[in-house]
Amino acid sequence: MAKTALITGSTRGIGLGIARAFAAAGYNVVFNGLEENGEEIAQGVGQEFGVGTLFSPANMLEGEQIRQMVAQAEEKFGGVDVLINNAGIQFVSPVEDFPEARWEMIIGINLTSAFHTSKAVWKGMKARGFGRIINIASAHGLRASEFKSAYVAAKHGVVGLTKVLALEGAPYGITANAICPGYVLTPLVEGQIKDQAKAHGISEEEVVQKIMLHKQPVKDFVSVELLANMALLIASESSKTLTGAALPIEGGWTAQ
Ligand code: NAD
Repeated sequence: MAKTALITGSTRGIGLGIARAFAAAGYNVVFNGLEENGEEIAQGVGQEFGVGTLFSPANMLEGEQIRQMVAQAEEKFGGVDVLINNAGIQFVSPVEDFPEARWEMIIGINLTSAFHTSKAVWKGMKARGFGRIINIASAHGLRASEFKSAYVAAKHGVVGLTKVLALEGAPYGITANAICPGYVLTPLVEGQIKDQAKAHGISEEEVVQKIMLHKQPVKDFVSVELLANMALLIASESSKTLTGAALPIEGGWTAQ
């Protein structure tokens, strides 16, 4: 029987790329995200790859909506075998001006939602003796940059949560790993390029070369394809003993 992957924030960017790769590999896919055409995206991918799909507009700030999303997925597909916590937002500001509401939102979407989703899928994974939890953290789960207090705190938190889930899941065939990407050219980063160009009074090209890729010895954006391939490898049956890891895919950033 086909396995099922639930990917939060999968209506664009990295999440959509990973969702497409899992569909191509024959998984049923549960889509989630705030884009208005989420339903259409899910149906389109389902038809393209001949797999089952479901779309949930659950807001990652709302625990109850998250629990409903997981319950719907379990009802439709009989369980969630792979959970990919990918939904995330960014806000860039010096700490002294950082808006309190933004802090709460980033911690809620980037960190707390992964607790809610993991808790919600746990019972089913435990009962089936198989589960793969993959958290899309960031190089900022391992290193800091200025002006990103909430994001860096949330992503370090995600890496910590991953380790605890790995330990608790070990007796039950549940693994938990974090993927820590460097910069990937998605709508989230395109927004940052514009904001940083304004904040620093420099061109967008200078932001890419001098600020973003400055920290990546490999002077190129990380591809969504590579992240999707890594997620598929972690999700496979043979990756039973790959757990508790925070895997850097960041062009050598954290080797420094
Ligand atoms: P993106 O902005 O392109 O996509 C984010 C997705 O999350 C969208 O589908 C959006 O609808 C969804 N989302 C946002 N808030 C939500 C909410 N409240 N409830 C439900 N869904 C919500 O971002 P991306 O660049 O694809 O980033 C995906 C993940 O990868 C994030 O966790 C991000 O921190 C992480 N990441 C990105 C980069 C990068 O350079 N792009 C680098 C490292 C880590």
